[in-house]
Amino acid sequence: MNYVLRNYAKLSHFNYDKNGKDWKVEAGKQQSPISLAKEKAVRSSAPRLTFVNYDKTFGSPLKLTNNGHTITMVIPPGADGSQPALCGCMLESIYKAVQLHFHWGSPHSEGSEHQIEFSRYDAEMHIVHQNCAYGTKKEALCAPDGYVVLGLMLKIAAEPVINPKALNKVCMEASQVKKYDMSSTFKGEFSLRDILAGMERQEFFTYQGSLTTPPCSEVVNWFVFPKPIEISKRYLKHLWNLSDDRGRPLLNNFRELQDLHERNVYYRNQMWPKNTNI
Ligand SMILES: [Zn+2]
Repeated sequence: MNYVLRNYAKLSHFNYDKNGKDWKVEAGKQQSPISLAKEKAVRSSAPRLTFVNYDKTFGSPLKLTNNGHTITMVIPPGADGSQPALCGCMLESIYKAVQLHFHWGSPHSEGSEHQIEFSRYDAEMHIVHQNCAYGTKKEALCAPDGYVVLGLMLKIAAEPVINPKALNKVCMEASQVKKYDMSSTFKGEFSLRDILAGMERQEFFTYQGSLTTPPCSEVVNWFVFPKPIEISKRYLKHLWNLSDDRGRPLLNNFRELQDLHERNVYYRNQMWPKNTNI
C-alpha cells in the first residue's frame, strides 16, 4: 500500500486506451469491476440500506471538473450543514458522500463498469462515500473499510418513465468542461435523492472490491443497483464530447472486468415500505 501511495501522482496519468490492462497497479484478489448476476449471487437478508440526508437540497453551488478520466462533482453539505451519508445494511460505520463521477462508452458502445446479467449499460454513475471513522482521505485509502461506492446504471431511453431532471442538469453541465482541467460552477437546486431519480434503493448487489482507477486499492464496499435510471440521449451525449489530458476523446472510460476469485457477491431484493428510507 505504501508503494501505491508513493506512486499516486505518477498513477494519476493513466488513460483508458486499453481499459486498464496496461496500468501498473499492484492488484490483489478483490478487484473491481466484476460481472454481477442474480443466479450466481448469495441471497442477502441484510437490513435495508439507510440513506441519511439524501433529501437535503445542496446548500452551496455545485462544481463539476474534467480531471482527464471522468467528470467529477464534489458533494457539498445541505443548506442546514448536514452531509448526505449512508449507514445500515451490514455497514459498521457511517459513510459520508464525498463525490460522484461517471463512466461511459461512446455513441456506438456501452460503457458501464459493472456488467449486470452479462450486459453493460450505457453508463455508470459512482457516488463515493468515505468512512467517517477516518479523518483523512489518505487514512481511508489505506483501510479495507475505507469507502462505500454506489454504482448506478444509466440507460438511454427515448422517453424515460421518470425524467431524471437533476441528472440531466449535471450531464448538460459537462458541455462546460469539455477539456482537461476545466471546471464549472452551477446552481444545483436539487438533492442526491433527486439525482437517484426514483431508483429502487433497496435492491442491490453488494461485494468487497476496489477503486476502479489507479491505485485500485481494495478499500471499497460496493453497492450496485441492477435497475437502471433512464436518461434521454440528448443529455447523456454530453459525456461523449469530452477530451482527456492529451486532448484525445474521452470515451469508453471503464476498466475491464476483474476476476471474482474467492469472493461472495450478495444480492438483496427485499422490498421495504416506501418512505421509510428517506
Ligand atoms: Zn468510478
